[in-house]
Amino acid sequence: MNAPAKYNIILMLLAAFSLCLFHCKAGAADEKSLIKLRTVVIDPGHGGSDPGCINRAKGLKEKDITLSVALKLGALIKQNYPEVKVLYTRSTDKAVDLRDRTDIANRNKADLFISIHVNSAADASAKGVETWVMGTNKTAANMEVCKTENSAIILENDYTSKYQGFDPESPESYIIFSLIQNTHLEQSLYFAGLVQNQLVQGPIVRNRGVKQGPFLVLWTATMPTILIELGFISNDNDSRLLANRYNHNTFAKRIFAAFKEYKTKYESESIRLADGTESQASRTGESFGIQIFSRTSPANNKRLMKGLDAYCIRDGKYYKYIYGNFDTRDGAMAELETVRKKFKDAFIVKMENDSLVKNQTP
Ligand SMILES: [Zn+2]
Repeated sequence: MNAPAKYNIILMLLAAFSLCLFHCKAGAADEKSLIKLRTVVIDPGHGGSDPGCINRAKGLKEKDITLSVALKLGALIKQNYPEVKVLYTRSTDKAVDLRDRTDIANRNKADLFISIHVNSAADASAKGVETWVMGTNKTAANMEVCKTENSAIILENDYTSKYQGFDPESPESYIIFSLIQNTHLEQSLYFAGLVQNQLVQGPIVRNRGVKQGPFLVLWTATMPTILIELGFISNDNDSRLLANRYNHNTFAKRIFAAFKEYKTKYESESIRLADGTESQASRTGESFGIQIFSRTSPANNKRLMKGLDAYCIRDGKYYKYIYGNFDTRDGAMAELETVRKKFKDAFIVKMENDSLVKNQTP
């Protein structure tokens, strides 16, 4: 082989190598765009003829506070993430049926639903912030908030036929909720935790925690949902803080900070893949699966699996349904896109000797 020929081969090899580099890089960029939080629906509670809870002495209405905070939150998301579609269930002072609120989110295939409310109690000393997810883990105290928020339907036309005879005051009506699984319970709980951690940094600092309850406004949603109760309009100190419009910016900023954290986490599976830093050879007994949903009772109906051959792993009070058993995270990742066509919020879990590794976040 003469010198120029050798030189040509080296050049060709270099070209092939750089082509491969380019290709691999482009592939990684594509993967990165796989999982994105694209659409968020913000739901300011009440509106129009339904003022929500009120403080007559101070001339305060829940519907005004929720709208103000919601619009500020939406503006922050748009400003920081122009690629995220922000939709409101209402952006003016008008009444919207509870069912239509989630319909908007479902129709637009939203990735997240944030309902904003203000609390009220007969006991004027009750104060603080709480964040709710849809669930049937109910106690007497929980039910009061749910009844109050659900009673908004009484102001809607023809509510008995629209909600199949649902009566917000009747305990029997709530039985229907125990039949419904919240397939997004974990993601909802995770986001609710982030929101609660942020909100208690003030202006209203009393932490009433993350709770589960049967909320009509959340129950037909097909994405992770939360309902925030910013504070008590019936409490002197809380209502003073809720009335101050400057604080509305702070509430919005707090919820935005939680949104930002959630979004990063939501999209991180694909970021990890692009980095390649997380791929490691499997150790003995360690494997990966894709969790498609979890619930508090066994899923006896095969149709819930949507044709996937999933198996159940018991984790505390949850029955977690897992698809696949992969030696590496990359192996699971390769299947994730396909699984997400059926279960939009499926995520990868790590297992050790057939049980889930603790402290994993969705
Ligand atoms: Zn409300």
